[in-house]
Amino acid sequence: MGTAVRVGLTGGIGSGKSTVSALLREHGAVVIDYDLIAREVVEPGSPGLAAIVQRFGAGVLAADGSLDRPALGAIVFSEESARRDLEAITHPAIRELAVRRETEAGPGAVVVHDNPLLVEMGAYADCDVVVVVDVPVQVQVDRLVRDRGMSVDEAQARIGAQASRDDRAAVADVVVDNSGSLQELTAAVRDLWQELSVR
Ligand code: ADP
Repeated sequence: MGTAVRVGLTGGIGSGKSTVSALLREHGAVVIDYDLIAREVVEPGSPGLAAIVQRFGAGVLAADGSLDRPALGAIVFSEESARRDLEAITHPAIRELAVRRETEAGPGAVVVHDNPLLVEMGAYADCDVVVVVDVPVQVQVDRLVRDRGMSVDEAQARIGAQASRDDRAAVADVVVDNSGSLQELTAAVRDLWQELSVR
């Protein structure tokens, strides 16, 4: 028997995806955090980092030999083909590590793929249930300004660089509306967990 349910969880920055992920973990889900594995696949000594240096040069390394994210970001944000080259290195490595983590979760687990780029990577297609945390853009902006110290312009730029609400809604099986209170979100996730754990 393999994984019982493979859940894809996504949402725009500031939507509350991480909050939902933490709540699902409390209920007993095995959460695979793609922000973490995206860092793991480019750690010093990894084949991923070696491939990045081969493509982009040693200028993308910090003094301590780790990836200089701002330096790499400056290259890939200004050049579409560079971004595609980077993704061709990182996305397969991320997928491979996620598969390994899922195997480690063991049979019967409800595995949540907590992936901000679930839609952008096309990874939603591999999931049994796609859960999208959704709020109006204005709520995203307000929370990013309030809780993460971003300016309104910065928040809007980050949001604009991601898939749109419509893009995510188009692939969603379940939409978790997080425009209400944290209590309401907690109750919605409790209901969601009930549905997932009886599948
Ligand atoms: P994401 O992972 O989607 O970027 P987070 O889960 O980190 O978003 O939530 C962004 C911020 O908004 C956090 O500070 C979080 O505590 C807060 N937040 C999440 N849901 C709510 C809510 N329903 N009401 C108020 N604040 C919320």
